[in-house]
Amino acid sequence: QVATGALPDPPRVDELVHEAHRRYVDDDDGTVADYIPALAQADPELFGLAVVEAAGAVHDAGDAHRLFTIQSISKLFVYALVVDELGHDVVRDRVGVNNTGLAFNSVVAIELNDGHPMNPMVNAGAIATTALVRAASTAERWERVREGLSAFAGRQLRLNGEVYRSEADTNDRNRAIGRLLRSYGRLDGDPDDVVDVYTRQCALDVDAHDLAVMGATLADGGVNPVTGERVVSADVCRDTLAVVAASGLYERSGEWLFEIGLPAKSGVSGGIVAIAPGKGAIGAFSPRLDAAGNSVRARRAIRHLSRALGLNLFASA
Ligand code: GLU
Repeated sequence: QVATGALPDPPRVDELVHEAHRRYVDDDDGTVADYIPALAQADPELFGLAVVEAAGAVHDAGDAHRLFTIQSISKLFVYALVVDELGHDVVRDRVGVNNTGLAFNSVVAIELNDGHPMNPMVNAGAIATTALVRAASTAERWERVREGLSAFAGRQLRLNGEVYRSEADTNDRNRAIGRLLRSYGRLDGDPDDVVDVYTRQCALDVDAHDLAVMGATLADGGVNPVTGERVVSADVCRDTLAVVAASGLYERSGEWLFEIGLPAKSGVSGGIVAIAPGKGAIGAFSPRLDAAGNSVRARRAIRHLSRALGLNLFASA
């Protein structure tokens, strides 16, 4: 275990990333998500791991270039774009920053809190956040979200039409959440249109390498370390990472911080991004999930790497 401070030299980081991949490559715990029909067809054997340093070095192992839909991980990047546009106070008041302790798609959480969406990492808060993206039309809102996430990734991200249609055909629950928020006056505009943009943002194809670049942009004060482009301000990165630390791993967020000590966000297609401020980010992908919807192998590989690279934010030595 390395003490807190700088990352080891890039060749050593490379070795550790490959070692973490080898260590879990035969781990087959968990089950592939099936509540979105197209996700059930994912190849459960895929396992990609990547680290991108804030200083720019990239390290890829296994299936780091196999595409999957970003799903809930989109929430944190759309949130960052909206905080950049509207500022800390507005977004804190409209969307909230506290963990619900309930499932990511809970309707009860909304009811228990007078219609408040609570935080941007659950579906209610993410839908409320997407509604805050300034745009004159739904098409423009979608384009701004896609462009923004592409700037984080440093390449043009594309919609996975099959996953989008599969989810759009079955997402009654998210539409119900959109309408419930509107009934409480917590969402402006047409809730179905907003949910459509949210469904699209979840269906953007990325790979584990992209996740690491996107996360490293937040670790690097908002500048993409690969393209050199400033995407958001350093203050926005700080705000976003605080919210992600509190709620990024659904009901397991406390457990995750306790074990791994890094802000991280997971998605039901099997991706996880973990961010070490000032140092870099880990992107991991493996479709088999635990009961809370978090990728088992991605979680284990990140836990291992967080220790090996000395990334835990709460460790003083
Ligand atoms: N598109 C999914 C939903 O809204 C994302 C869920 C997730 O990744 O947790 O249900």
